[in-house]
Amino acid sequence: MSDQKEYLKSSRLITAHYGEEYEHYYNAIVPPVFMNSLNVFETLDDYYEFDRRDRHKYCYGRVQNPTVRILEDKIGALEHGVGALAFASGMAAATTAVLAVCRAGSHVICIHNAYGPLKDFLNGYCREHMNMETTYVEGDRLEDFENAVRDNTDLMILESPSSVVFSLQDIRGVAEIAEKCKAKVYIDNTFCTSIYQQPLDLGADIVMHTTSKYIGGHSDVIGGMLAVKDEKLMEKLLAYRELFGGIPGPMEAWLMIRGLRTMEVRIGKHQETAMEVARFLESHPKVRKVNYPGLPSHPQYELMKRQQKGNTGLLSFEIDGGVEQATRLAESLKIFKIGVSWGGFESLVFLPHARQTPENCQKLRGDQNIIRIHCGLEGADALIADLADALEKL
Ligand SMILES: *Cc1c(COP(=O)(O)O)cnc(C)c1O
Repeated sequence: MSDQKEYLKSSRLITAHYGEEYEHYYNAIVPPVFMNSLNVFETLDDYYEFDRRDRHKYCYGRVQNPTVRILEDKIGALEHGVGALAFASGMAAATTAVLAVCRAGSHVICIHNAYGPLKDFLNGYCREHMNMETTYVEGDRLEDFENAVRDNTDLMILESPSSVVFSLQDIRGVAEIAEKCKAKVYIDNTFCTSIYQQPLDLGADIVMHTTSKYIGGHSDVIGGMLAVKDEKLMEKLLAYRELFGGIPGPMEAWLMIRGLRTMEVRIGKHQETAMEVARFLESHPKVRKVNYPGLPSHPQYELMKRQQKGNTGLLSFEIDGGVEQATRLAESLKIFKIGVSWGGFESLVFLPHARQTPENCQKLRGDQNIIRIHCGLEGADALIADLADALEKL
């Protein structure tokens, strides 16, 4: 992005001003929603010879759109990559990444605690239609990856921290193992966001985000993102996005840009609140265990400090009692609403393992009664009071 202004280096300046070309839209401080499906050309040569990576040339909305492009420039800069590509959902981004890297018969190493639907894709579509195999590992130890490597290992899938039990993987260590066997490292960076963790700097090849969480930030948009450090991979992903048709609409991209402007400020508050809530839960006699990487009691706290600059608003805990009691607790909370997503302004509660078999729970390292909460922006005092009341009633 050589035509970008030199001084736009900090994350705050990037989210505010990077990728914007005010002079192209009458100096409006907010870019327009380029709500158009095509752009026209002066000559046929202009059409046939235009470069799809040229930020001033557009042809058709499934290929690229100027509003989408601004979003991509910002995320690419935040992640220290050669660029980023936006998608219509996190899963559109994730599946495109897997299909771009793997071939028929590829072997994948994936952590047990990766996002469920991505594992469904590996176990279902990839196995049935592409004869691919996946080895699942805990991922806390580098040996987990070393021991799983095969001749045909093409991809290692990480999510650090994972979003139910908050286990971490040593990104740099995994990247070194992957380099030796010529596999690519993919990491879901949604929990930390591009503000608190830059996995490309640690050796990862593909960083994925669902922008439906903190980037959107207001529970009003679904979207995804891939950032990469290699030009060739970038070209490939761009071509596949065009073929699979996964680009988001311009209105969604505009909402993601708007969310991004305040993301650093928001996640700072989410983190502060989550720390207070985590400490409260940890000291509560009815709570058996709290999973939050910001707590010094987290078993990978040292690794967290090495590779992350912070944590956000999601955490989980287990109470003394079974899934029925955990359900009652979730249902008696007033501010925390029952819901699956997170990253918005609102506090949420969910029991992600309530319908898992006991054997699966063991692999996922969280019992059926594990309670996940997202600490929203309603204020720590109100959230702690809500939790205290619900725990009191147990
Ligand atoms: C929500 C989520 C996804 C999927 O994103 P969508 O935008 O819903 O497709 C992937 N990874 C994590 C960690 C998530 O929380």
